[in-house]
Amino acid sequence: MKRALADEVKTSLRAELLRILEENVDLLRRAGWIVTDAESPKWWDGVETVDELLISSILVQMTKWEIVKKILLKMREKGVNSLEKLSQLSEEEIAELIRQANFYRTKAKRLKVLSEITSKIGVEKLVKDEKLLKEVDGIGDETAEALLLFAGNIPVFPRSNYAKRVMSRVLNVELTREEAKEIVEELVRKDLYELKLAHAGLVTVGKLYCFSNPKCNSCVFKQFCKYYNANRNETL
Ligand code: SF4
Repeated sequence: MKRALADEVKTSLRAELLRILEENVDLLRRAGWIVTDAESPKWWDGVETVDELLISSILVQMTKWEIVKKILLKMREKGVNSLEKLSQLSEEEIAELIRQANFYRTKAKRLKVLSEITSKIGVEKLVKDEKLLKEVDGIGDETAEALLLFAGNIPVFPRSNYAKRVMSRVLNVELTREEAKEIVEELVRKDLYELKLAHAGLVTVGKLYCFSNPKCNSCVFKQFCKYYNANRNETL
């Protein structure tokens, strides 16, 4: 079900959300997001290429981002940080390369299959096609949407539990992940830069403040958060 927001609510929420996020790019940086040009691959903590975005999207599952960064660095040093190079390695060689990651054998198999797909159709085609992305083993709805936005530069807001929780609290109404996605897409009018900023910002706020027991007093959204303002007399 789509939740309708009044036009004046949308205009002021959009302005406040974007202003606060742009004023807090250092906070986003601490959470691993680099606010940069709309079409740059570097939003994901400085990842350098579209290939690295795809590779890291497989590696990061059930694995800390710090470990993924170490593996990417090693791949760069060895000159195998592209899917074309991975397609020339055996599954066992890829497994050896990524063995610091949890479930590295499964991920080696997935990376090998992914490299074979991109050898056939090309990386650019894959990252712009949601249906093709979801056919890749290990890429679900959320990862596919994140890749469409950050690797394919397609203006879609990735659904996530962070966005659901934060937007539900900001509007003080319980939203589904899909409703939160639709509302953010409507707010930022499918602008590529604003979609990336909004995703990075909502994930940051969800990770740093908006827990089940939220830390509202430290949160950068508290000025416009309806949940906070409805409960501000309680200790938050
Ligand atoms: S002010 Fe509190 S409830 Fe609102 S987004 Fe921040 S942490 Fe969540």
